[in-house]
Amino acid sequence: MSEPVIRVSHLKKSFGKQEVLHDIDFSINKGEVVSIIGSSGSGKSTLLRCINLLEIPDSGTITFHGQDILKGDLNGYRSKVGMVFQNFNLFQNKSVLDNCVLGQRKVLKRSREEAVAIAKTHLDRVGMSNFLDKGATKLSGGQKQRVAIARALSMDPEVLLFDEPTSALDPEMVGEVLEVMKDLAKSGLTMIVVTHEMQFAKDVSDRVIFMDQGVIAEEGTPDEVFEHPKNERTKHFLSRFRQTTLEKED
Ligand code: ADP
Ligand code: MG
Repeated sequence: MSEPVIRVSHLKKSFGKQEVLHDIDFSINKGEVVSIIGSSGSGKSTLLRCINLLEIPDSGTITFHGQDILKGDLNGYRSKVGMVFQNFNLFQNKSVLDNCVLGQRKVLKRSREEAVAIAKTHLDRVGMSNFLDKGATKLSGGQKQRVAIARALSMDPEVLLFDEPTSALDPEMVGEVLEVMKDLAKSGLTMIVVTHEMQFAKDVSDRVIFMDQGVIAEEGTPDEVFEHPKNERTKHFLSRFRQTTLEKED
């Protein structure tokens, strides 16, 4: 098998005396969509933040195409791994278009003309091309998140990380964001998605990871994890969703 795009080995991270990630091993191949599920506080965001180097691991290694990122060009790596946050993190006082242009200008040194053209392509893809001049604060939550996704795509990431991208949305806006993410998954983008949307994880992922108390407690295909979980904690966690999300659409 070819070298994974990202490989995390023996990753540990503590905050003060609390070890939040204990010896995590994880890798993702090109074009793979991996969903990470688990209770609040299990370390999902910390894992994503370590992968994106928003947090520096205490020990362990993270490689990108076989290169140790902690020893290499951090900024080059960061521009290859995009992130979409729960709370959008848009530039509040900027337009939709500028939100998607500024990073390209600053980090990738693209001309304004080129950056605008690329931004427009991605804003069109997420259905936001009619809002180019609108201020970020004027948008609905679903629109903000679609702009945040277009902004991330405008940087040509090889991997896109999503940290509960629909958790801050009103229920009626969740679908429009999940549709965009489904489309990206189909297009072959490599994605790691922390989510509580179990139906999405089930339908779209190649692989599902269940995190519990700072470890990967279970990992497998959606069928293995959702239909035949082995770990008692996975079973318990999933039982909380059975009545609602999964059965509704089955
Ligand atoms: P999840 O995303 O699964 O809800 P997190 O990775 O956010 O979990 O958090 C895991 C644990 O680490 C929690 O106990 C949380 O309180 C703690 N934690 C996360 N970030 C910090 C931080 N910056 N400082 C101190 N503790 C943190
Ligand atoms: Mg989190």
